[in-house]
Amino acid sequence: MRKLIIAILIGILLPVVVNATESENVAPEKRKRVVVLDPGHGGSRPGKAAGKIYEKTLNLDVALEVRNQLAKKMPDLVVYLTRSCDSMYDANRDIDNRMRAEFANRKGADLTVGIHANAHDNTAVRGGEVWILSLNDKVLNYNKKKANSFADEGDYIDIENIDRSSMGFMLALARQLDNEPRNRNFARVLCNNFKSLGLNDRGVFDSVVWTLLYYLEGPGALVETGYMSNPEELKYLASDKGKKEVAGAISDAIVYFIKGLDAAGEYADAGAEQEQSTQSTASKESVKQDVKDASGAGYTIQLISSKTKVNINDSQFKSYRGRVMLVMGTGSWCYKYCFGSYASAEEAKSDLAEVRKSFKDAYVVRYEAGKLVK
Ligand SMILES: [Zn+2]
Repeated sequence: MRKLIIAILIGILLPVVVNATESENVAPEKRKRVVVLDPGHGGSRPGKAAGKIYEKTLNLDVALEVRNQLAKKMPDLVVYLTRSCDSMYDANRDIDNRMRAEFANRKGADLTVGIHANAHDNTAVRGGEVWILSLNDKVLNYNKKKANSFADEGDYIDIENIDRSSMGFMLALARQLDNEPRNRNFARVLCNNFKSLGLNDRGVFDSVVWTLLYYLEGPGALVETGYMSNPEELKYLASDKGKKEVAGAISDAIVYFIKGLDAAGEYADAGAEQEQSTQSTASKESVKQDVKDASGAGYTIQLISSKTKVNINDSQFKSYRGRVMLVMGTGSWCYKYCFGSYASAEEAKSDLAEVRKSFKDAYVVRYEAGKLVK
């Protein structure tokens, strides 16, 4: 059976290898590295909860902080988030997670990192852990047991219902064969980073087949930053210090991973390359702008809010085109496009009448570090 699978895999992989070689000859130096961050859950799926603290919120805060840190640590890296606000792709968990993986695949991600927080019946359990994809027999059997005991928390594949002779499963196996050493290496480095923060290093796990990881074409891992069920750890995870430190551990591991790819001269398939070289520039600029313009604190005039990201040169900004800045709010209308930066609310209000000639509902808001403050 194993020989048969390997034979099939060679059949699948060979054309991929040939394509990759051809594409490297074209223009590998033009391609920028891409990392996709996936803050787990969102919208009507809060994930784990501890009182009023929801996992979806912690995941997003950490992901946004990882993005900010990467902009400083590795400015050439193109970083995408699967979500930047309290949203999801689909109310169906399986479809939602699969769409997140497909988002990363479309972007040609060199690495995808799912960001989650965990919980356990035993409140003494604490620490960070990192999950990678593995589809060996031991894992598949364990998954069956695991799926039975945590049926209502399953952001993972119900492997029993997957046809193991299907092309989808074979492709997942092939991808695993391709990426597992790198995934494991990234996971190990990240666990070590957790350890140096003084957190409990729970290690690298591969006993559950997470939906996100199953459908990823490139390398990826799913991080559980800590246990919300442990009161002390929850306090840490919900604190600014905790979020910054955990994000630091993740961003350092990403930088290490990308440098490793660069050193090995490895480039992902060029299919996404063209798309990226144009998209990455736009994305980079908008990220830079988020960081640069709204990174301080002050008052600004909110013109519009949007459910999706809008180009700052869009015609809807009228005479303010190209002069607006993005401030992140909460809820599903989380993209707040604002004009001006003022030291006081009074100063901002002095410009409000003029702005209201174009945006009659405009009003003054306060922002700090790129975020709206209530
Ligand atoms: Zn989760």
